Amino acid sequence: MTEGPYFKAGSPQRSSLIEASTVGEKLVLTGYVLSVACKPIANASLDFWQADGNGVYDNMGFGLRGHQFTDAAGRYALTTVVPGLYPGRTEHIHVKVQPPGGTVLTTQLFFPDVRENVFDAIFDRRLTISMEKTSDGWTGTFNLVVK
Ligand code: FE
Repeated sequence: MTEGPYFKAGSPQRSSLIEASTVGEKLVLTGYVLSVACKPIANASLDFWQADGNGVYDNMGFGLRGHQFTDAAGRYALTTVVPGLYPGRTEHIHVKVQPPGGTVLTTQLFFPDVRENVFDAIFDRRLTISMEKTSDGWTGTFNLVVK
């Protein structure tokens, strides 16, 4: 999937993207990186970037940008906020996933029940996060499958 205009290389390694000034509803996104044979992949890198709750990217610094690696069980966990809308796009989180020594997969993750999904040509329902509301924001799950 297209990486779009806002990717920046060199994001900090961190699993929480929330800073004191971050705008948006809290989201804890978890899942596995899996092979096409459905085997968990340890030490895969995931580089996330996204807009804040108002649909604004930090293009000067590394706000709401960060990379991490899956644990021994192939799991990742990202603490962030639900991204807002920006012109022409529905809500989405960008990610580049790379298994150790493998090829980079660039994709985007989407949110269910967003009115703008149907107006976004990039939207793909197969890339929709499973979301649950909690007392402390949202939890989401999505498993990424890579070659
Ligand atoms: Fe984007």
